Amino acid sequence: MSTNATAAPVTMEEITALAKRRGFIFQSSEIYGGIGGFFDYGPLGAILKRNVKDAWWREIVELRDDVVAFDSSIIMHPNTWVASGHVNAFHDKLVDCRNCKHRFRADHLSSLDKCPDCGMKDTLTEPRNFNLMMQTAIGPMEDSASRAYLRPETAQGIFVNFKNIYQSSRRRPPFGIAQIGKSFRNEITPGNFTFRVREFEQAELEYFVPNDGNDVRYYDEWVTARKRWYSDYGIRQDRLRFYELTESERPHYAKAGTDVEYLFPWGWGELESIAHRGTYDLDAHMKLSGKDLTYFDEAAKSKYTPILIESSAGMDRTTLTMLIDAYNTETITDESGKESKRVVLRFHPKIAPVQVGVFPLARNKPELVERAHEIERSLRPFARTQYDEGNVGQLYRRQDEIGTPYCIMVDYQSLEDGTVTVRERDSMSQDRVGEQKIRDYLGERL
Ligand code: ATP
Repeated sequence: MSTNATAAPVTMEEITALAKRRGFIFQSSEIYGGIGGFFDYGPLGAILKRNVKDAWWREIVELRDDVVAFDSSIIMHPNTWVASGHVNAFHDKLVDCRNCKHRFRADHLSSLDKCPDCGMKDTLTEPRNFNLMMQTAIGPMEDSASRAYLRPETAQGIFVNFKNIYQSSRRRPPFGIAQIGKSFRNEITPGNFTFRVREFEQAELEYFVPNDGNDVRYYDEWVTARKRWYSDYGIRQDRLRFYELTESERPHYAKAGTDVEYLFPWGWGELESIAHRGTYDLDAHMKLSGKDLTYFDEAAKSKYTPILIESSAGMDRTTLTMLIDAYNTETITDESGKESKRVVLRFHPKIAPVQVGVFPLARNKPELVERAHEIERSLRPFARTQYDEGNVGQLYRRQDEIGTPYCIMVDYQSLEDGTVTVRERDSMSQDRVGEQKIRDYLGERL
């Protein structure tokens, strides 16, 4: 067989249909009509997202000796959000159409003269501030004293714990603190599937560095490290850009900033932001709490406020990117010259929810079924495996569509000489491999 990859970009309709059909992502509470801005990850999606988070965690925490792990609570003291500026300034400008009642973010509109949905002139209201933090109440009374917020970012949990963490883990700058966790934002216009949602997961690294003049070098190193990560996991380089923010695009306290962006079917969208945040965050919490969050340098016998380099990545957006970036449709020509289409997700083997599919050639032959089950069980400790049975063409089609890199077929020859067929997803080439060698064969390739 030969393949002829078509470069046509996938549409969001194709992605959402595949996500539902194969169990990657479902609309939340679908049986009640859904709820805007919330999604559920199905059996394969849950593994895919976990793999994305694990890939980040492995790189940022486990393969380094200068970053420690952290996991803070979602609800924090309300003053946290006063100090961070979220209570006063975490707003989007909201505009309503008086005619069709649709809502828009003012900064997403090219003009305020005409409603982009119903087309009526002069029906849009003046932009007004809308705070994006979700509120809840702690305890039985719902009054202003019990008001609390679901965190809109995970970073603040790290800042307020800076001293606890560096003292207990005996760290000194330069060192980092990493955490992955849920964040909530009451987005005015959630949309583009899981790109803009109201409940999402962030992976944040806060890297604290001494104020000895090397801060920009650390920032540059993190930008390079993050570039490497995306390329290691096979994200197409022509659909990824590292956009350096100009001075007017950055907050006043930030010395440098880069947005990592992917070219989605609707255009460029942010996956991650990398920022040099100066001492802004620690200063703000010291001021409001009255507590010291400086670092005491034993050698110099002096204290200073470390400078912060931040990398903040959205795990739902990265998972969606992996799904879109992996998506390929191909025209396959078989030996007789007959053409057919196949959809294949070319996931990196570490990201693929299923790494090895194992099937018997015929499901009504107990010897084949039993051998296939045995092989699948024996591989389980080493790879994410799945046993399946049915029509051979459909089995391959299903595994291609969920991005399984290798499929093992147990056939009659297997019963005679103990070999199986291993098919590789992208080239569709097949190798005959002895059962004893399967583990090594896959180990080298996964
Ligand atoms: P945007 O401009 O798209 O609203 P942002 O600049 O407000 O994003 P940050 O505050 O920098 O985002 O958050 C860091 C990361 O968290 C983003 O790069 C993104 O991947 C993720 N993120 C932020 N808001 C959402 C959301 N509503 N849904 C999904 N992911 C989000």
